Amino acid sequence: MNLSYWEYKTWLSDIDFTIVGSGIVGLNCALQLHKRFPKAKILILEKGFLPQGASTKNAGFACFGSISEVLSDLERHSEEEVVALVEQRWKGIQLLRNNVGDNSMDFQVHGGHELFLNSADELYQKCENRLAKINSLLKSVYGADAFHLGPNTFDFNKVKENYITNIFEGQLDTGKMINALLQLVHQAGIKILNSITVEGFSERVAGVDIKTNLFEFKSKKLLIATNGFAANLINEEVKPARAQVLITEPIQNLAIKGTFHFDEGYYYFRNVGNRILFGGGRNLDFKGEETSQFGCSKQIQGHLKKLLKEVILPNTPHQIDLRWSGIMGVGQQKKPIVKQIANHVYCGVRLGGMGIAIGSAIGKDLADLME
Ligand SMILES: Cc1cc2nc3c(=O)[nH]c(=O)nc-3n(C[C@H](O)[C@H](O)[C@H](O)COP(=O)(O)OP(=O)(O)OC[C@H]3O[C@@H](n4cnc5c(N)ncnc54)[C@H](O)[C@@H]3O)c2cc1C
Repeated sequence: MNLSYWEYKTWLSDIDFTIVGSGIVGLNCALQLHKRFPKAKILILEKGFLPQGASTKNAGFACFGSISEVLSDLERHSEEEVVALVEQRWKGIQLLRNNVGDNSMDFQVHGGHELFLNSADELYQKCENRLAKINSLLKSVYGADAFHLGPNTFDFNKVKENYITNIFEGQLDTGKMINALLQLVHQAGIKILNSITVEGFSERVAGVDIKTNLFEFKSKKLLIATNGFAANLINEEVKPARAQVLITEPIQNLAIKGTFHFDEGYYYFRNVGNRILFGGGRNLDFKGEETSQFGCSKQIQGHLKKLLKEVILPNTPHQIDLRWSGIMGVGQQKKPIVKQIANHVYCGVRLGGMGIAIGSAIGKDLADLME
């Protein structure tokens, strides 16, 4: 496309920082760059008409790791590393709350509950036996005992009598959160161009030439925040992982409140007002879900529907309203990749399933790589 002199001059010249991706990482990165360099010209390029990865598709859990996840992490990491992981999520949520404000994203704390299927005897025993030890390990993060044993008050079916609850976990309205961040970015005078796909870049001595589906331009620095789509632009150890969810129609007198997970975190659900949002099942087809194509599979959606009826709402009539998917970025290691990859190019990717908790901090860390 031939752009006009005016278009180049107003939107695409003298760019100091170009960010690819307007998810939670890209938006927080832009805000931090603006804070540090108030006069800099910052541009965000986004391939979707809205952010189109995971940040507007997720379940909105403000979570820090269930007890079984903490125990599983302890098998592969030192105690210090596990405490650091949980602390990063905890501090990340506090940063998000400070930046966006609780009201703007409907942030609520009703606890995060881990349910154990009746068949998961061994896992349940292990978690119950180690409860006190894990509470004491994580006391430096939470300042109090986070995990508590509680009865199955919501009448879930086929699960153990008790849940293990992290009393500090919360939930938020994903759409409101991203909308609030977009507003902050606009207020800061940062430009976002939507429906623009960055197709490649090449370094020059003083900056980067950036090629998009519609035009080419120059920027002093390029910051890549494309998470599950990172492999299209850079060569880092991050793979796409699709996650599928559904949401019910409103359910009269729904008592369920809070965030819940079961089967070692492979399934998760929460109330959204008087609806249930339910997702997971990637473990049914890991290979098939290693894709950056949006879509819902019959196998996974069928299983979600079955578990919704049999475990979550066994005695409550319900209808499914919507089904959708989002694309996460995962790797062998849980740690995100935040680093400089060339003289003028940087990335902040591989957020896994915890991007709400850590996305604000990763965006800030990415911006703080600039000298
Ligand atoms: C169904 C689902 C449920 C989840 N639930 C939770 C949860 O409850 N709690 C939690 O903490 N985390 C959850 N996550 C994970 C969390 O949503 C992600 O970790 C987080 O949103 C990642 O943010 P990001 O900014 O790194 O990536 P994204 O939000 O994916 O942003 C990347 C952006 O880059 C754009 N892009 C990609 N390539 C290009 C290109 N070449 N040119 C231009 N733009 C490009 C994409 O369109 C996208 O908007 C969930 C994820 C999914 C999918």
